[in-house]
Amino acid sequence: MKLSILGPPGSGKGTQSTRLADRLGIVHISTGDILRTAVKDKTVLGKKAHEFINSGQLVPDDVMIGIVKERISEKDCKKGFILDGFPRTIPQAEMLDTIIPLDGVIFFDVSEEACVARLTTRKICPKCGLIYNPTTHPPLVAGKCDKCKGPLATRDDDKVETVKERLKVYNKSTEPLVNFYKNSGRLLHIDASPPPDEVFEKLVEMVQAHERGSARD
Ligand code: AMP
Repeated sequence: MKLSILGPPGSGKGTQSTRLADRLGIVHISTGDILRTAVKDKTVLGKKAHEFINSGQLVPDDVMIGIVKERISEKDCKKGFILDGFPRTIPQAEMLDTIIPLDGVIFFDVSEEACVARLTTRKICPKCGLIYNPTTHPPLVAGKCDKCKGPLATRDDDKVETVKERLKVYNKSTEPLVNFYKNSGRLLHIDASPPPDEVFEKLVEMVQAHERGSARD
């Protein structure tokens, strides 16, 4: 299965796509994680991306397309993959269709107010990328990652002003992808407002049904 999760920042894409990839035994590719690692390692890409990320803007399409093209052509993607945070613009989606068309795109539907509340209170492990939420998924020990045991942090772009900018950018550049994928019959819709475990069970059911349907076509 070649899938992507589409939704506003804070809709739960990161948490759910990581779990789904694990369940389906396919690769999880988060463009945000790739960029944050590059920023941390101060690579050429990281230096280019830093300002865009911190101001809530999108990294230019040509840069993102290059990264994804290279990543999905690796051997571990042969069995399938879940893209998390890509495509985010129509040109990115059009490019992807020319190399490896997606089988399905899952739209995470959740209100803007809920996204702001989730993003401005969440913590992330800078080492492994695990995401924590004070009510739905608190760490076992306050301020420490369950897996790495290291200190949790707030993402720089989760500050209120940047979150508002990210939502604005989402509405302008990414939301049009809902119709793009609906028109090509590949859009799956999920209500992403319930608690994470509930969303996850529905997500698995939906993807498995879609896979059975695609297999029959
Ligand atoms: P995320 O972790 O998916 O929320 O991504 C964090 C930030 O990385 C975004 O706000 C963008 O600045 C940048 N980014 C990630 N994926 C893309 C993409 N497909 N196109 C452009 N910028 C991206």
